[in-house]
Amino acid sequence: MVLDKFKLEGRVAIVTGCNTGLGQAMAVALAEAGCDIVGLNFSEPTETKQYVEALGRGFENVHADLRKTDVIPTVIEAAVKRFGKLDILVNNAGTIRRSDAIDFNEQDWDDVINVNLRTVFFLCQAAARQFQRQNSGGKIINIASMLSFQGGVRVPAYTASKSAVMGLTKALANEWATLGVNVNAIAPGYMETSNTQALREDTQRSAEILGRIPSGRWGLPEDLKGPVVFLASDAADYVNGYTVAVDGGWLAR
Ligand code: NAD
Repeated sequence: MVLDKFKLEGRVAIVTGCNTGLGQAMAVALAEAGCDIVGLNFSEPTETKQYVEALGRGFENVHADLRKTDVIPTVIEAAVKRFGKLDILVNNAGTIRRSDAIDFNEQDWDDVINVNLRTVFFLCQAAARQFQRQNSGGKIINIASMLSFQGGVRVPAYTASKSAVMGLTKALANEWATLGVNVNAIAPGYMETSNTQALREDTQRSAEILGRIPSGRWGLPEDLKGPVVFLASDAADYVNGYTVAVDGGWLAR
């Protein structure tokens, strides 16, 4: 039956940056669908651990600053040691720095590119190598953005990184489809999280944004729960290299 294809019982998922916001909602969604979760976090994911364990699923956390890649072998080992394997990787952690492009500095450029793109690639590679060792296939879901499609304002490094995430998602799908690995992305629209707090507090920008969202509201972390479970599941086996917008119709406007 078709709904059985969405079930994730016994699967193991790494979710980066799952202490809060979209990452937390996606980790909880995957746990609700049956996954054990390995978090990769800069801040302690106390609340997420509680939510996941209350669902009767396991939760393991690995501490990391994802501006660097040194933690990658550790997180794969942690998944295998605690849960025996890896099935799903969700590259959610991301950072944004706002400044006029004319003033944008190298430190901000490097931090954004390292977290949002460089580490994302090497996590994808480590997950694919683990899927290959297991001879199992697997699902990778990267978190893109409206700025994978559009230019944005005062966020040049973020736009560069998220545009690259969409391209990388296609490139890796091409190479790894024969391994049974699906690489897709979710492009959230304008969502209510700490990432957009500054934007929502800017009365003029906030009104402009809300005015062009066909759904008439900002997105909520819960809006990603269905899409992430779908892309992580057998129901999405023939979906590969695609970036799904979850944006209340923003791109359709
Ligand atoms: P958030 O600020 O609540 O969460 C960001 C997460 O990334 C946090 O867990 C944070 O600790 C982690 N992170 C940032 N820098 C890190 C580092 N150096 N090392 C380890 N972890 C680090 O924001 P969010 O909105 O939940 O963002 C989640 C993802 O969604 C990001 O990739 C973001 O770019 C993307 N996104 C958000 C929106 C939105 O409107 N909120 C829209 C499109 C895409």
